[in-house]
Amino acid sequence: MRFSGKTIIVTGAGGGIGQACARRLHDEGANLVLIDRDAGALAATQAAVAAPERLLVRAQDVSVEAEAAAAFEAAIQRFGRVDGVVSVAGAMIYKGLEALTGQDWERIMAVNFYAAAYFTRQAFNHMQDGGGLVYVSSIHARQTSALVGPYAAAKAALTSLARTAAIEGRARGIRANCVLPGAVDTPMLRDSPNIKSGLEVLDPQDVGQPEDIAALVAFALSDEARFVTGAELIADGGRLAKL
Ligand code: NAD
Repeated sequence: MRFSGKTIIVTGAGGGIGQACARRLHDEGANLVLIDRDAGALAATQAAVAAPERLLVRAQDVSVEAEAAAAFEAAIQRFGRVDGVVSVAGAMIYKGLEALTGQDWERIMAVNFYAAAYFTRQAFNHMQDGGGLVYVSSIHARQTSALVGPYAAAKAALTSLARTAAIEGRARGIRANCVLPGAVDTPMLRDSPNIKSGLEVLDPQDVGQPEDIAALVAFALSDEARFVTGAELIADGGRLAKL
C-alpha cells in the first residue's frame, strides 16, 4: 500500500498501459484521477478498478492547456491534494518526412509532449512537496524506425522535460522520471501499420504486458525511488541491449 492517502493523476487512463497503471496504483491504495478523451475507454478502466470512492474520472483532451488546470482544481476539490502525475496519453502517426504537415507535427507534439508540459506546470504550482512525476516515453526516444518521426521526437523531448523537472523540483523533493517502454501488447501496438506491413518485425520475447510498465511506473512514483530522479527507466525485455 505504497500510495495510501495519496492522490495520483493518470492521463491516457483508458488505454492499455494507462489502465494497468490505474489498477496498480489503485491496488496500492491511491486516490486516482483518471483522464482520457475516450469516455468509453475510461468507463472500462473505471469498471476495472474496485473502489469508486477513491476515483475521479474526467473525459478531457490533454492537449488543451486549460483542461490541465481544471483537472488539478477538480482533484484538489475532491481529494484535498495531488501527490503525483503519470503522463501516459499518447498517439502516433505513420507518415514519411516528405508528407508530414505542420498540423501533423503539432498534433503529435501536443498529445505526447505539450500535454505533459501543461500537467507539469500545474504540478509545480499545486502538487505536494515530495510529489512525483512520471512521463511514459518510449524506446523511440533512443532508437527509432521510419515513418514515426514526430512521435520519436516527442518521446525524446519528454526525456529532456524529465531532466528539467528533476532539476527544478529538487529543492521541494519533487522527483521526475521517464519510463521508456519497448513493445507492449496494447491496441497501439496491435494497430501499428509498421507492424502490419512487416517494416517492423517483433520477436515475441520483445513484447511485454501493460502490467510490466505499470510496475515500473509505481516504483518510480514510490518513496522506494527517493534517489531516482531525472532518469530514463527502460522496460523493453532487453531489446535495446542487442547488437
Ligand atoms: P493506447 O492507444 O492503448 O492508449 C493511449 C490512450 O491515450 C488512449 O486511451 C487514448 O484515448 C488516449 N489519448 C490519446 N490522445 C489523447 C488526448 N488528446 N487526450 C486524452 N487522451 C488521449 O496505447 P498504449 O500502448 O497504452 O500507450 C500508452 C503510452 O505508452 C503512450 O504514450 C505510448 O506512446 C506509450 N508507449 C506504448 C508502447 C506500446 O508498444 N504499446 C511502447 C512505448 C511507449
